[in-house]
Amino acid sequence: MVFGNVEKDIIRILSAEVERKFGIKCKYGKRFDVPREAYSKFRKQYLGDYILEFASRLNGSGKVLAVTDADLYTRGVNFIFGLAKINGNSCVVSIHRLREEFYGRKSDYNLLLERTIKESFHELGHVFGLKHCSDFNCVMKFSKDICEVDMKSMNFCENHEKILFKNIKKYSATYIMHRENFVL
Ligand SMILES: [Zn+2]
Ligand SMILES: [Zn+2]
Repeated sequence: MVFGNVEKDIIRILSAEVERKFGIKCKYGKRFDVPREAYSKFRKQYLGDYILEFASRLNGSGKVLAVTDADLYTRGVNFIFGLAKINGNSCVVSIHRLREEFYGRKSDYNLLLERTIKESFHELGHVFGLKHCSDFNCVMKFSKDICEVDMKSMNFCENHEKILFKNIKKYSATYIMHRENFVL
């Protein structure tokens, strides 16, 4: 289905999926513009680290999952699907390169949703102490490109799930904040 405001719906479903998977309550945060300070004119991309820092300053008592449609990078790589610090209080996911349109293909809403959920689970996994996994059956597998995002599972492997739920017990809430329809 196509919605006039795709991002709102993605956030709604994502929020429900995060609650289901992590067993923690999600709360919608405020919407912000992508900080201009994060923009690199040279790269025509946004520094993920800046948005991560911005998000962590607003976290309150929970964890923040920031979702953006800005194209993100971090030092040393061309782009990132997301960014988090292990055991940090925030993470960021960019849907920019999760869209089929980015690769010159026809828009695919369900695929975009699935990818967004996967990358959000992955980054939240980091926030809850998980490192990368070598197993494609685990969402903590690092994805260097969109093919690898599609190849990996939405679930956590047994080992990572154990660590995850041990760590989640320490937290009671997650705040989701997002922005949408970013225009350069
Ligand atoms: Zn990762
Ligand atoms: Zn794993």
